[in-house]
Amino acid sequence: MDTFQDDFDWSFKAKHPFKVIVVGAGIAGLAVALGLKKAGHEVVILERVHQIAEVGAGIQVAPNAARILGRLGLLSEVMEKANVLDKNSLRRYANNEELGTAPLMPQLTGTSSRVVRAVDDFEAKVQLESGEWVSGDVVIAADGIKSDLRHQVASHHGVTDTCQPTGDAAYRIMISKDQMKGDQRALDLLNHNVGMRWMGPGGHIMGYPIKNNTVYNMVLLHPQKPGDPNEESWTNKGDKKEMLSFYRNWDDLVRSLLSYVKDDDVMEWTLNSHFPLPSWVENKCVLMGDACHPMLPYVAQGAAQAIEDAGVLTCALSLTNSVPKALAVYESVRKERAERIQNSATVTRKALHLPDGEEQRKRDEAIRGSTQGSGKNPDLWADSSWQDFKWGTDVMKDTVDNWDNLVARSHGYHVHAVQAIGY
Ligand SMILES: Cc1cc2nc3c(=O)[nH]c(=O)nc-3n(C[C@H](O)[C@H](O)[C@H](O)COP(=O)(O)OP(=O)(O)OC[C@H]3O[C@@H](n4cnc5c(N)ncnc54)[C@H](O)[C@@H]3O)c2cc1C
Repeated sequence: MDTFQDDFDWSFKAKHPFKVIVVGAGIAGLAVALGLKKAGHEVVILERVHQIAEVGAGIQVAPNAARILGRLGLLSEVMEKANVLDKNSLRRYANNEELGTAPLMPQLTGTSSRVVRAVDDFEAKVQLESGEWVSGDVVIAADGIKSDLRHQVASHHGVTDTCQPTGDAAYRIMISKDQMKGDQRALDLLNHNVGMRWMGPGGHIMGYPIKNNTVYNMVLLHPQKPGDPNEESWTNKGDKKEMLSFYRNWDDLVRSLLSYVKDDDVMEWTLNSHFPLPSWVENKCVLMGDACHPMLPYVAQGAAQAIEDAGVLTCALSLTNSVPKALAVYESVRKERAERIQNSATVTRKALHLPDGEEQRKRDEAIRGSTQGSGKNPDLWADSSWQDFKWGTDVMKDTVDNWDNLVARSHGYHVHAVQAIGY
């Protein structure tokens, strides 16, 4: 990915600089703020927490996100700190057998400002907890999975903003090099830049090294315990004994990795599916990132899709002097694509969590038989046409190259009516 090549020049300046209010300073908010600032817009970021801190989780920066981070001037800094994975390896839970691998597109190589509400008619005006109003030309709500503004947009459309439990939960653990001292198999994993995915009955595990191969990061999917609250917090504690119990029949490499984590360092969160909203745009307010398309971890695209939103919003708001036009184009380019990727979680979950039996044997055969990265594969991550769609689509370039068409087609855009060009 360090040889990432980009033939798209997006170094344009805003046709009409807007004053943009960005609510939330997560990956989505910061990426769009940076893009807009570079294009010459005035940007105000409102963030409810006093200090931005690491939540202690590794994420995979997929090629579709890396491309846009490059244009924001951030890729080299990210690369300095990142582990660059060479490939993903898909394994059977019981014996660690490698069923197949998938390449990762090698050619691409202060003061708290909690926003409590938007003004009733969704003009570009939001109210802070202090009572103060902040106004601009457009409000971008990048306030995450528990977005207040998402609720407001939903209820404005007469929709109850609800989610549905998937039946799964995820543990998140990190194991340091010290903790695995003396275990050569675990150290080999830590030293190799391969994304590992073990799949087994009712669950799967993703693992990869982070922090210059000094920490092994794992996300472990498993059935949610009956009666557990559907709390979507990334920082709730999980129970190590329960974790060891669920994975007790998995390969001993997996079991020994899990045994190294301290009891207190197991995090667990519930996985809910969020229903698509009728619209992401209401007058001069627009949603982005987890606020409008929270992704389940089967997909590992939440941050990547937020960064795509940022790239498209930056282009759209810079190519016109009309905020409604820009937001309509943004929605027409982004909504269908992001929701399709969001929905792919169901297929991936089913494929990876099959119980042992005939269907599982057929799946494993198909994975073994598929040419690496160049054919149909029951594992969507390794399916070449899905990779082309997910990683190969250049949403910024599509927005700029097809601008006039998109403006014409997004006039009166309604969710199911328009298919964005190029998808
Ligand atoms: C363990 C784990 C692993 C993951 N792995 C991957 C991966 O491999 N690849 C990938 O692409 N994605 C991954 N993701 C998903 C990704 O991290 C998220 O999709 C992404 O961080 C969402 O960014 P966001 O900016 O939309 O939301 P957030 O990061 O939630 O940011 C929202 C911000 O808004 C602020 N805010 C909220 N309400 C208000 C308010 N009313 N007023 C002002 N500020 C407010 C919050 O304090 C926060 O700072 C992973 C997530 C987890 C938890």
